[in-house]
Amino acid sequence: MSDSAGANPSHIKSAEIFQRARQVLPSGYTRHMVVAKPHPYYAISGDGCWITDVDGNRLLDCVNNFTAMIHGHNKKEVIDIICSQAPRIMSAILPTEWEVKLAELLVDRIPSIERARFMNSGTEALMIAVKVGRAYTGRSKVAKAEGAYHGQYDLLEASFQPTPDKWGPADAPTPVANSVGTPQSLLDEIVLFPTNNIEATRNILRQRANEIGTVVIDPCRLQLGLVQPRNDFLQMLREETQRLGMVLIFDEVLCLRMGYHGMQGRTGITPDLTTMGKIIGGGLPVGGLGGSAKVMSVFEVDAGEPKVKQSGTFTANPMTMATGYTSMSLLTAEVFDDMERKSERLREGLEKIRVDLGLVGRVEGIASLSVLLLTDKPMNNYRELAVAMGSGLLEKIGIMSRLFGEEGILTLRGGFVASTPMTNDDVDFALAGARRALARMKEMGAT
Ligand code: PLP
Repeated sequence: MSDSAGANPSHIKSAEIFQRARQVLPSGYTRHMVVAKPHPYYAISGDGCWITDVDGNRLLDCVNNFTAMIHGHNKKEVIDIICSQAPRIMSAILPTEWEVKLAELLVDRIPSIERARFMNSGTEALMIAVKVGRAYTGRSKVAKAEGAYHGQYDLLEASFQPTPDKWGPADAPTPVANSVGTPQSLLDEIVLFPTNNIEATRNILRQRANEIGTVVIDPCRLQLGLVQPRNDFLQMLREETQRLGMVLIFDEVLCLRMGYHGMQGRTGITPDLTTMGKIIGGGLPVGGLGGSAKVMSVFEVDAGEPKVKQSGTFTANPMTMATGYTSMSLLTAEVFDDMERKSERLREGLEKIRVDLGLVGRVEGIASLSVLLLTDKPMNNYRELAVAMGSGLLEKIGIMSRLFGEEGILTLRGGFVASTPMTNDDVDFALAGARRALARMKEMGAT
């Protein structure tokens, strides 16, 4: 008898595929961030902001592949460029004009970018950005916020989600490996600072100024839409790094989607380097790095050997460059405004539901990201976030996102990511489902 016997009849095919997956992929998965119990739903197609799974269930996609699919699925112009570029040339050792066009677009829009380079993932962009910081300053250590996510590079994934027993002092956190086997010598190269603690962070940077060459921060949030760095904190980072001769990286792999000029356009603070990914590939795998001509000069070959060497078989391949350029060109300032208006409608609706149902918590979000937090605990840094999660918030998020799923809404752990095809009707669909799900959660005594 198949193991999927007795499975939920509306997910029978997904259950069957998962049984096969378990035979050939560790635990059935390639991406840990998509693990779902008892099994994932396997997608078969997508259209606009809707996804259909192999059993024919339709879900409102409020995740957009971790924010990357800003135009949702099956966007005509994006599909057209893929179909027209593929027969022309998919990849070769000759560069194409598409690479120049995408770089021109980014230089034109993103305040910190005078020169750009491309990679195949956000992780790779961060890896290369660190090399740039080291080559430019001659100092090897990198400072990051405790709890921040910057992709899978073992140096930068340190202390992504450390447990309290390993935290160390609050004003000088101890770096903790994210994967078993990470060498201590690598952890010695990372310096952690507490988000939003201006004094402690300033002291750390000043005291270790002769070792730290690079400071990296996601200017929008620490983890999955949670914990926003305050503007005065970012401003302090800008001033201190400038004073101490460090390279400041804004990791905008996710938050470039926050506006026409990226998150840096919203904050009014310009870093030395910006790492990118997700939306700049238009749905194909991508990474990007941009910065001032001075810092990016470490790649230059005109004067001989570059200080930082970068290549890669599929780097800047014409499929990604053409698709990224086309997709980014469709993102005008008006399109960003429209997405933001719809997200504000969603945030207002969620807050109304929260008040109507008498739920403790708050609605947060910026631009196209929105989240209902069922807690009254503060969350100004990783440790406060971990305390809130440990006192019931994590379980609530799990239940909430499962119940949203049962209402046909796919969320990023209960958080909502808007896309350009989303209409007010889609927002209202999400709100109606969220109201039913949260009312059920209240009845269950789970809020
Ligand atoms: N940096 C941030 C802020 C991210 O959110 C992500 C991915 O979610 C990354 C880096 C890594 O990007 P990628 O998944 O393309 O390697």
